[in-house]
Amino acid sequence: MHPFALKRPSDLATALASGAQSGRGNAVTEYIAGGTDMVQLLQEHIRHPDHLVSLAGLLDSRIEENPQGLRLGAAATMAELAAHPVVVDRFPVISQALLNSASPQVRNQATLGGNLLQRTRCPYFRDTGYSACNKRKPGTGCAAMEGENRWHAVFGTSENCIATHPSDLAVALVALDAAVHLRSVDGERTVALTDFYCLPGSAPHIETVLQAGEVISAITVPASPVAWRSHYLKVRDRASFEFAVVSAAVALEMEGNRIRQARIALGGVGTKPWRVPGVEAALADASLDRETLQRGAALAIEGARPREHNRFKVELLQRAIVRAVEAAGERT
Ligand SMILES: Cc1cc2nc3c(=O)[nH]c(=O)nc-3n(C[C@H](O)[C@H](O)[C@H](O)COP(=O)(O)OP(=O)(O)OC[C@H]3O[C@@H](n4cnc5c(N)ncnc54)[C@H](O)[C@@H]3O)c2cc1C
Ligand code: SF4
Repeated sequence: MHPFALKRPSDLATALASGAQSGRGNAVTEYIAGGTDMVQLLQEHIRHPDHLVSLAGLLDSRIEENPQGLRLGAAATMAELAAHPVVVDRFPVISQALLNSASPQVRNQATLGGNLLQRTRCPYFRDTGYSACNKRKPGTGCAAMEGENRWHAVFGTSENCIATHPSDLAVALVALDAAVHLRSVDGERTVALTDFYCLPGSAPHIETVLQAGEVISAITVPASPVAWRSHYLKVRDRASFEFAVVSAAVALEMEGNRIRQARIALGGVGTKPWRVPGVEAALADASLDRETLQRGAALAIEGARPREHNRFKVELLQRAIVRAVEAAGERT
C-alpha cells in the first residue's frame, strides 16, 4: 500500500479546504468515509493518495421525511436507511436496493455518500496486473473490450470504457428522480442524480461532476405518487454479497388496474444508472397484462451495444423490467 497521512479535520470547512477529490484521476488527496471501498482500493494499489481526509463526524447523518419528500444525510449508513420505517413503508425500492447490496457488516459501516461514489467492479480496473485500463490510467487502453466482458455495460459505453456503475442504491434513487446536494468552499449546489454521473466518453477516469474539494452533503428524494408502489429486482450470480448482473428499479402510480405513470431505471447494464424513458412512456395508461409489459420492455434495448460475452443482458434486462413492474403493481 502506498504510504499516506490520514487527516481528521474537526470541522467541515477545513475538510473542504483540503481540495480532496473523490476518485478523479490520480488525486493526491482523497476523502474517506466508511472506508469499505477506499480501503480495498488502497490495498489493491489502485489508489495511491498521499493524504486521506476523513469525513467521519463532519456530515449530517439524519434521515428525515418532510412535505417535499425525503432528505438523507450523506453520512447515514446503508443499514440505517434500509431499516428506516418511512423508507420501508413508503419508498420500498430504496430499502430493497440496499438490502440486496453487499453484506450486513458492510451496510453497517458504509455511508450513502460513499455508496454513490464507489468505483466500478470491472475486474480489469480492480487488478493492476492488467496494464490496459483507461479508467485507472488514462490512455492505456481497455482490456475489457476484447477480454472477458460478461459483467460489462451495454448502454452508455464508449470506445474507451464499458465498465458498469456498481451502486444499487443509485439505480433506485435515479428511478425516483433524486438529487444530490454538494458542498464546497464556494457554497452549495444541487444536481439531479442522473446528471451527477458522467458517461465515459473520452475521459472514463472522470466519473462525476464533483469538483476538487466538493462533497456530497445530502440526497433528496421528491415526494411522488409513484414512490409507494415501487420494487427493486436484482439478478446476480449468487444470492448475496454480489453485484448486479442486471437490476431494475420500478415505481408506479396506478389507477385501478392501469398504470398511470411509471419510472424505471436499470443497473448492471449502463456505465451509469440507466433510465428508460421510452419504456416509461409506453407503459403510461397500460394494463399489467404480461404481453403489454413485454412490448413496453422491448423498447428498453434501443441503443444497446452488447459485446461478445454480455449479449444475454439484452434479453435479461427486458425480463427484469417485466418482473419488476409486475411485482410493483401487485403491492397492496
Ligand atoms: C464485499 C463487498 C460487496 C459489496 N456489494 C455491493 C452491492 O452489492 N451493491 C452495492 O451497491 N455496493 C456494494 N458494495 C459497495 C459498498 O456499498 C461501498 O463500498 C460503500 O457503499 C462505500 O461507502 P463508504 O462510506 O465505505 O465509502 P468509502 O470507501 O469511504 O469511499 C468511497 C468513495 O467515496 C468518496 N466519498 C465518500 N463519501 C463522500 C462524500 N460524502 N462526499 C464526497 N466523496 C465521498 C471517497 O473519496 C471514495 O472515493 C460492496 C462492497 C464490498 C466490500
Ligand atoms: S471497461 Fe473501463 S474500467 Fe474496465 S478495463 Fe476498460 S477502461 Fe478499465
